[in-house]
Amino acid sequence: MIIIQVIHIYYLDRTLTFKTHLTKLKGKLSSRNNILHKLAGSSWGSDANTLRTSALALIFSTAEYCAPVWEGSCHTKLIDTQLNSTLRIITGVCQPTRIDWLPVLAHISPPELRRKEATKKMYQKLLDSPDLEINPILQSPPKHRLKSRKPIWSRGNQLLSQNFNISEAWTNSWISSDFPNKNLITSPSVKIPVIHIYHLDRTLTFKTHLTKLKGKLSSRNNILHKLAGSSWGSDANTLRTSALALIFSTAEYCAPVWEGSCHTKLIDTQLNSTLRIITGVCQPTRIDWLPVLAHISPPELRRKEATKKMYQKLLDTPDLEINPILQSMDKFLDSSDIPNKNLITSPSVKIPGFSLPRREWVLLNRFRTGQGRCAELMKLWGYTKDPNCACNVPQSMSHILDDCPLYKFNGGISNLHSVTPEALNWLKALPLRL
Ligand SMILES: [Zn+2]
Repeated sequence: MIIIQVIHIYYLDRTLTFKTHLTKLKGKLSSRNNILHKLAGSSWGSDANTLRTSALALIFSTAEYCAPVWEGSCHTKLIDTQLNSTLRIITGVCQPTRIDWLPVLAHISPPELRRKEATKKMYQKLLDSPDLEINPILQSPPKHRLKSRKPIWSRGNQLLSQNFNISEAWTNSWISSDFPNKNLITSPSVKIPVIHIYHLDRTLTFKTHLTKLKGKLSSRNNILHKLAGSSWGSDANTLRTSALALIFSTAEYCAPVWEGSCHTKLIDTQLNSTLRIITGVCQPTRIDWLPVLAHISPPELRRKEATKKMYQKLLDTPDLEINPILQSMDKFLDSSDIPNKNLITSPSVKIPGFSLPRREWVLLNRFRTGQGRCAELMKLWGYTKDPNCACNVPQSMSHILDDCPLYKFNGGISNLHSVTPEALNWLKALPLRL
């Protein structure tokens, strides 16, 4: 696996700056951002969770392929510009929004840190495999010929020795930078896993849950259909990876809980459609063929495997608590001196509003970041002449939110950030296009 990954760099230039490779990759990412744009404009694919999953499956996975090899290149900016566009599409924030906000709002770690994490992992893996040909090189690395080149053995070794931790690194960079509203977020990275079964019926047959899930899978199959009809996303590997990330992961979420239900057929019908899209076989094809052709084990067996694993995990974990992580985050909160830090009740929760309709989600993010199409900024960007609000003072985002006699929200940024019912009503009723 590892060796194959290393070999597949398109263009190995003699100088090892990876410029050509990264330029090609940039083009690829740009066309994938286009389809994400299309999704964001659709009625069925535009919720933040779907966009985020699609972005990870279609764009980030491509952007990070072989990343440990070229992570040290001075041309990584080419890739980051595209990934920032991706994050902008997910969150709906506008162009001038500080890029520090993007990963937080989209709940995807900053690209640079994701690559470092990947490098660290790969380096550790290589070190742990004494049979690999590259192993002796790592044990006694060659002398640097060019100071500017940073091969994986020096980067990996450095990351390991400084005990690189992606969420710590992210939190530190968040805290050390300074921009509007940043104290809404204290620890940008942690997400609490919560079991989120929609409908627990009294009989525990999970019929309602599985019926809802079926609908969800059906609309995701639509995305896959679109991909299959595109010129750049229709190869089977892309389809298979997307299917696993978008559809199977959803279909198998909490599966050990409902695996024993007699309504699992509802899910399997959808998964068979997924497999049909990947493989291109027609409707009457026997379903036994589908998993074989798509190289994905039969759904029922995948669920059994998941149940076994989860059961084993529960057995092996006498003391199932996420507590230690949360406690270390709380210490972090207390030690840092942040004004308004009481805005944050629980620093480790995924940012509120992910499930809002696209308009409200986008609007919310624009108020959080203070960047939107308000008159003051529109003038600054050269789109209009008048920076004033209808109430005759300069119209900034915070003016609209806090001060404007016509539009203001009485709950302030903190209630807006946590999307109280009043905040949501206010967002919905706000007659401005920001
Ligand atoms: Zn006003």
